[in-house]
Amino acid sequence: MDTSLSVDAARLWRALETLGEIGAYTDERTGLRGVNRLALTPADGEGRRHVVEQMRALGLAVTIDRIGNVFGRRAGLDDTLAPVMMGSHIDSVPTAGRFDGCLGVLGALECLATLGDHGVVTRRPIVAAFFTDEEGARFGTDMLGSAVATGRLALEDAYALRDRQGVSVREALGDIGFIGEADERLAAPHAYLECHIEQGPVLAAHGREIGVVTGVQGISWHEVTIQGKAAHAGTTPMELRADAGIVAARINLHLREMIRSGRFGADMRATMGALVPYPGLVNIVPGRVVCTVDLRNPDDALMRAAEAEVLRFYAQVAAEEKVELTWRQTARTEHVAFSSVVMERVAAAAAARGLSHEHIISGAGHDCQEMARLCPAGMVFVPGLYEGISHNPREYSTPEACAAGVSVLLDVLRDLAA
Ligand SMILES: [Zn+2]
Repeated sequence: MDTSLSVDAARLWRALETLGEIGAYTDERTGLRGVNRLALTPADGEGRRHVVEQMRALGLAVTIDRIGNVFGRRAGLDDTLAPVMMGSHIDSVPTAGRFDGCLGVLGALECLATLGDHGVVTRRPIVAAFFTDEEGARFGTDMLGSAVATGRLALEDAYALRDRQGVSVREALGDIGFIGEADERLAAPHAYLECHIEQGPVLAAHGREIGVVTGVQGISWHEVTIQGKAAHAGTTPMELRADAGIVAARINLHLREMIRSGRFGADMRATMGALVPYPGLVNIVPGRVVCTVDLRNPDDALMRAAEAEVLRFYAQVAAEEKVELTWRQTARTEHVAFSSVVMERVAAAAAARGLSHEHIISGAGHDCQEMARLCPAGMVFVPGLYEGISHNPREYSTPEACAAGVSVLLDVLRDLAA
């Protein structure tokens, strides 16, 4: 593995800071600078135009497809070959830090700048990309742009999604001027690489500098509506109640028991992240609760078993507590395994650079899992500070950690594009 070139850590850091000022805000409670570049808002548009400018400054040929994905292409010695693609996203949740997604996009541009600095031309072309609406925080579907590019989602279905104000993806794309003319169905690259902040505590806890990402675990989301009977908290005897709040609490505790049993594997996770009681008053038995269940598992068979157990418990608890329970699936993805070839290259580059590393499965979804349908794909994780907190203004990684991850990205890129 040739590790003779390293990226410019200071230049990469400046690029992260500059993009991080677009859509920036100051968190009132902590005084920290956060980022709000919700997909296809004016702030996202401004961020996009800034990155497109950076691409043009590097001499890349920029194309935009019909779902607003942006590709900057650097020619290779043999331009008939499929390119090596690097990418991620620059849209954010409303309370983000500067690294999620941006490290992968700006890291890709830093790799190309470094090749340019040293006059290196690769045999294959190289493409740096950013995909539309990875977060799904506005229109409810994550990995939107990469899902369309790889054929999991039809363009017309993506266009028709609407935000809470009723604005469609198509309207919002048009408003910021990012409906491109390129075919939204992407031709298969030779390989796809993505550098990303871990967004979890594992690498920092183990004192590792690089994560060799093995894949993305399966995700299953339910929205559960529990219909009981609202009643006076003082006058209604306990045995006559149909308390929707009790049912939500029992489901939540059952999820924890499922984890503790170990029957669904050591890596199973379950969360009730939203729990909204109606009418939500101190002296009224909640007549209705809407809550969510988020299941994660790297093993598809164990995930299916866990889903079956959750559904069995829904029926049991509804009968016991005399409520009506309905649920709908709001997200469902299987485990995605990344390319063993890419994993080997990432591990070899980290080893050659003397960077400590370990194999790690991603707990979050990424554009790379969509690209894995098209071509060999893989990711490099960089540790975050503060227990890896993410989707939060406290999200932080160091200039050294970011440069280490992007230099590994560069090594693998050079190897695959040679
Ligand atoms: Zn991300």
